[in-house]
Amino acid sequence: MTNPSTEAGPRFRAFGRKHIDSLPWLKRLSRDQVLALKAVSAVLPFRVNQYVLARLIDWSDIPADPVYQLVFPQAGMLDRRDFNTMVDLVVRKAGENEIVRAARTIQKRMNPHPSGQVELNVPRVDGEPIAGCQHKYRETVLFFPARGQTCHAYCTYCFRWAQFVGADKLRFAGHEVDTLARYLARHTEVSDVLFTGGDPMIMSSAVLRSQVEPFLSPGLEHLRSIRIGTKALTYWPFRFTTDRDADDLLRFFEEIRRRGKQIALMAHVSHPRELETAEAREAMRRIVETGTIVRCQAPLIRRVNDDADVWAEMWSEQVRLGAVPDYMFVERDTGPKHYFEVPLAKALRIYSSALSRVSGLARTVRGPSMSATPGKVLVDGVTTVDDERVFVLKIIQGRDPTWTNRVFFAHFDSAATWLDDLEPALGENEFFFEREIRAMYEGGWRPGWADLDDDDDGEMTA
Ligand SMILES: *Cc1c(COP(=O)(O)O)cnc(C)c1O
Ligand code: SF4
Repeated sequence: MTNPSTEAGPRFRAFGRKHIDSLPWLKRLSRDQVLALKAVSAVLPFRVNQYVLARLIDWSDIPADPVYQLVFPQAGMLDRRDFNTMVDLVVRKAGENEIVRAARTIQKRMNPHPSGQVELNVPRVDGEPIAGCQHKYRETVLFFPARGQTCHAYCTYCFRWAQFVGADKLRFAGHEVDTLARYLARHTEVSDVLFTGGDPMIMSSAVLRSQVEPFLSPGLEHLRSIRIGTKALTYWPFRFTTDRDADDLLRFFEEIRRRGKQIALMAHVSHPRELETAEAREAMRRIVETGTIVRCQAPLIRRVNDDADVWAEMWSEQVRLGAVPDYMFVERDTGPKHYFEVPLAKALRIYSSALSRVSGLARTVRGPSMSATPGKVLVDGVTTVDDERVFVLKIIQGRDPTWTNRVFFAHFDSAATWLDDLEPALGENEFFFEREIRAMYEGGWRPGWADLDDDDDGEMTA
């Protein structure tokens, strides 16, 4: 058992666009930087809190500071023309309605749900889609609780930004825990439910409990793991230490284990700086003490962590704190991608170089990995076959499980940043999965496991 926390901690305060003129930290910004921040944050989500401001950002090194780049919208994140449009509106003190309207137009062009996310992955019960769920990989269902659709601060590169800027039609909204539990009762192939968001840890412990509880019921013994994706460990570590219901949360984690399920925190950690504070270390210590597995993942982002030393240090630190390095992701094809993208060839060099500097305990990390339409695609190497320079790619999670661990080749291209940029190699004219994916879109193909159409009542044996 973890000792109850005794000291009172800070009360969470979120700051956004309307606080730009009043935050003391921002007095260091130049007039142009403030203007740019006001212009870009009307389009891209901007949210920060006092812990990130005071403890994570090195204000002597802005704008280059990696955490500043991680959290603060920058001029270069919009196209020049869009940027100018927004700056003009701010300079001439346009009304909020006009600013919002201009911002919406730009947001619509920024493609928030790539990779067939919405169309292909939604599970159904009796033909009705279950809102707020995705079932792309056979063993794992993603669940987006409606009350976990925000975060303690926002990452500027986040592909979920449409959820945060109120573009309502694009929103996932999951309030169907019970329907999902009913679906899962019939889907014994599912071993994991992964709570995601936003950040599910934004929910109070009581609400989180109400969302998790249905999955602990009898009839769901095949469900082995409750996984929670979160950045609270680094954006608001007090969630696990001094917040009023922090102890309740840790007690609940222990209870989940007592009730026979694994509890895993999928922690988003972008930079080793985030694990250096006493606050984050204490949070990690308390989480690990409950028997919760902490697995760490992050995308590789230019200006934030595009450096092998940064990753090597981060992975070593994760292992030292009792966590498991899990994924290095390639930045998704969405939002201000051009600002953050790292070519696949460079990503592979960074990954390999970082891997060579850490012990086997940190080599659990897989990457660089793209969450693309066919599945999670690993850039596994570069080699030469029959005088042709090729990327060796590997499916590590397939939309079709028979694709798992399948290797395929693409022409080497030093500038390519995503699977879509790649061409098949060695005389093939398409990648092996393309025909099947086309059929999925055209024929309304659904994976065998994604439907629950039956005449039974489908009720859980409570
Ligand atoms: C990454 C991912 C998962 C989880 O995959 P693991 O490899 O088990 O961590 C589940 N669903 C989707 C859609 C994902 O992208
Ligand atoms: S914490 Fe996660 S969901 Fe929230 S903004 Fe960052 S990447 Fe997006």
